[in-house]
Amino acid sequence: MKINFRLPDAGMLASAGLMAATLASCGERPEEDQRPNILFIMADDHANRTIGAYDGSIHETPNIDRLAEEGAVFTRSYCSNSICGPSRASILTGMHGHRNGVTGNGAPWDNSQFVFPRRLKGNGYTTALIGKWHLNSLPGNEFDYSKVLTGAGKQGFYYNPDFCINAGDTIQEMGFSTDIITDESVEWLEQHKEAENPFMLFVQFKAPHVPRMPHFRYLDRYRDDSIVEPPTLFDDYDTRRYAAEARMGVHHRPLPLLENHDPSNNIYFDRMTREELERYHSYRDPVTKEYRRLREAGKLQGKALKRWEYQQFIKDYLRVVDGIDDNVGRILDWLDQNRQLKENTVVIYASDQSYFTGEHGWAEKRFMYEEAMKMPFLIRWPGHIEPGSRIDAMIQNIDYAPTILDIAGVDSPEEVQGRSFKPVLEGDTPGDWRESVYYHYYDHGRHNVPRHEGVRTDRYKLIWYYTDDHYEFFDLEEDPHELRNVYGREEYSRQVDSLKRELERLREHYRVPEHVFHEPYVPFSGTGTRH
Ligand code: CA
Repeated sequence: MKINFRLPDAGMLASAGLMAATLASCGERPEEDQRPNILFIMADDHANRTIGAYDGSIHETPNIDRLAEEGAVFTRSYCSNSICGPSRASILTGMHGHRNGVTGNGAPWDNSQFVFPRRLKGNGYTTALIGKWHLNSLPGNEFDYSKVLTGAGKQGFYYNPDFCINAGDTIQEMGFSTDIITDESVEWLEQHKEAENPFMLFVQFKAPHVPRMPHFRYLDRYRDDSIVEPPTLFDDYDTRRYAAEARMGVHHRPLPLLENHDPSNNIYFDRMTREELERYHSYRDPVTKEYRRLREAGKLQGKALKRWEYQQFIKDYLRVVDGIDDNVGRILDWLDQNRQLKENTVVIYASDQSYFTGEHGWAEKRFMYEEAMKMPFLIRWPGHIEPGSRIDAMIQNIDYAPTILDIAGVDSPEEVQGRSFKPVLEGDTPGDWRESVYYHYYDHGRHNVPRHEGVRTDRYKLIWYYTDDHYEFFDLEEDPHELRNVYGREEYSRQVDSLKRELERLREHYRVPEHVFHEPYVPFSGTGTRH
């Protein structure tokens, strides 16, 4: 059992948990006018390390942090598969990828299955999604309104992006992705603030996903700063053969100078007006010249090159994050100005997964290691969550659907595999709350990372690279950076056996079919539009 901030004794806990479970199973709804609105803000690849509210953060995000100050931050929030599409599918369905069909970014998306926005809609909520979608068919009737980024392989553009509205027309909006998504969201809120029905609005930013192009107003920030390096930037990958073989290193090469830059070779720059391109280069060309000067002086070799690339990478990352934080501030300011609405609106900030921001020398996700497996999760719910809570209970993206439904007083169908953590939010963590999380990465070979599954408990982590039956085992208390695979060491044999049994139990609990361990992964190449 995990402890959170204001835990009563174990007996009270058990009865409170039982009460919450009973209410949820009856599907009782509060009075219509009391049901809270839900504002779900999600970024893409936003590392916990760059959110001020998290321990060990290297950055300040005063607006996102407001949610932690006025609500709660979850320190042990995890995804089930650390890539975009699968995490989003698990959020919408409350199920692992082998159940909802989205095991990889290439997998088809079938939204005729259970998705919680449709259930909310069927129970009187107005539902909308604005921003990045990324699944392989467009949003359907589960949303009253959708306006999703399209283009660049469903990733969307930073500058002058295209949007698809209600799975119909595609239009280009001039401006910056994060700003536009916020403009549209605030406009949608304005239009719905007087409505009788409660709403659920998903605000989903593309940032800070590659190719991390900051807005002009941030391009000069941190220019002369030296951002702190993670302690594992120069990991030697000893005892971890797949980490050694992965191809996801921090990599940053400067742009060509303006006079040599043909934007038709790059879809992201090709969308800029000539004026925008020139303005962008006014910030970047000095960096390119400095890079060339250092190279010619022989100062960018080995570790020095990696250090230089890390600084360029992380500065752009922080600049793009600053764009998110400022825009989250705009949304929270709007709620401040609409005080009555604010008091009855749950605000969540999450990311589809965290990200290696230089840890192990990487700029990616995928592996079951902590930096990728985590998801930032901050939530404010006035009157229900004690301000300033730090909650250590383990939650997973499959829990969001049942939790949000529970908050709305709507029950979840049997096929949902996650569990509502509403009692956890309210300080009553059930006595039988989860003590382990299941993880399964399927995109075999992408970035040279093999398929793997595993289990994480309070202290230990077991990873099984099953395509060639190789294990890794980490003692997270002794080795929080996961630098020493101690699988096979005699002193851990009891714990390894225990986690193998737990992995087996979770596989059965989540009904993972045997065939996924044997069938080759076949990338999906279609553009299915099933609704
Ligand atoms: Ca992502």
